[in-house]
Amino acid sequence: SNSFPQRRIAIFGSTGSVGSQALEVIASNPDKFTAEVLTAFSNEELLIKQALHFNPNIVVIGDEHKYKIVKEALSNTDIKVFAGEKALEDVAGMDCYDMMLAAIVGFAGLRPTLCALEAGKAVALANKETLVVAGDIVMQKAIEKRVPVIPVDSEHSAIFQCLVGETRNKIEKVILTASGGPFLGKKPNYLVNVKRDHALQHPNWQMGAKITIDSATLMNKGLEMIEAKWLFDLEPDQVQVLVHPQSIVHSLVQFEDGSIKAQMGLPDMKLPIQYALAFPHRIPNQFPRYNFRNPAQLTFEEPDTKTFRNLQLATDALFRGGNQPCVLNAANEIAVFAFLRNRIGFLDMTDLIERTLQYVPVIEKPTLEEYFESDGEARNFAASLIKL
Ligand code: NAD
Ligand code: MG
Repeated sequence: SNSFPQRRIAIFGSTGSVGSQALEVIASNPDKFTAEVLTAFSNEELLIKQALHFNPNIVVIGDEHKYKIVKEALSNTDIKVFAGEKALEDVAGMDCYDMMLAAIVGFAGLRPTLCALEAGKAVALANKETLVVAGDIVMQKAIEKRVPVIPVDSEHSAIFQCLVGETRNKIEKVILTASGGPFLGKKPNYLVNVKRDHALQHPNWQMGAKITIDSATLMNKGLEMIEAKWLFDLEPDQVQVLVHPQSIVHSLVQFEDGSIKAQMGLPDMKLPIQYALAFPHRIPNQFPRYNFRNPAQLTFEEPDTKTFRNLQLATDALFRGGNQPCVLNAANEIAVFAFLRNRIGFLDMTDLIERTLQYVPVIEKPTLEEYFESDGEARNFAASLIKL
């Protein structure tokens, strides 16, 4: 429609699961969105393909060894090509786009996102680790620069959608729904033997490897509790988790009068991605609709935090605050990386995180530099625990 000004999008992490789905949304709405910046870490083949299709202003390849390949492949275009970590930050600060889709995975997404906020850009945030690590600094920067941080994570998008029109009304609590992952109902004697290929089979969502493992351990829900605290300015005890295996109710908000709002739909990331890119508008699409006959029953149950101890560790880190979520995140990134390489077992991930949390000194109110130090210390210690 005419009231929708065309939005220039910078997709950081365009070759990932979220990034490529965002490009599908952009391709379906060429009158509303253009892809001005595309970035990838090492998948130069897909980055080149995306660049030739969407003709962005700029592409960045994180891995500097691949600069030449990308540059040559795009030599017949006027697309600018940059490489390296520093280029990600520089480009995040450039004028050529309106909104960043932060879809890099892990701690690596923090600096570019901060640069975007510093430059006064709206951020559609998929990268939850950014808020887990340094949520106070990130949200403070957004407030200071008066720019919105719009959640892409489906649960947080659900809460965000429930809050539209409720600006003056206090939240009593938010309830994050969790699918429970592929091992819902399983006990430690089963989990101890679980291997990567099995853990990579998520029942409801197709996602990148790291978040898929996090979903299997329930760490993902723990990270999301911390993410929710920062996005919606909540106290730790206002964030709850409820297992909902069908993934139709994406999350709920309970207000002070006891009224509960939920946002529902089929589990398809293109929905929250499109909502964030188009906010405050809703735009039509042809995605499949939820039919109440399939699934006909929506069920809810408490999470088993005794078995899925990562969720308990993350909840504890949320309550403790300071650098604890940052340390938890770093140890978890190392643990997941090692599990994906068959170096440690499924339950070893939890032990690794727990021991790292015991090792790294607590900092109550870290600066950004201290967050980086805690992250580094936690990574080094966690890596030292993995036997060769
Ligand atoms: P992915 O692994 O599929 O993609 C990650 C992207 O980040 C790729 O483009 C990769 O090139 C880039 N990248 C990785 N390491 C990098 C580095 N060191 N420097 C620069 N770029 C780097 O991941 P994903 O599943 O798309 O998830 C992206 C983020 O969105 C994660 O934080 C995840 O938790 C969050 N998220 C994903 C989903 C989903 O459905 N996939 C849902 C909710 C939230
Ligand atoms: Mg989620």
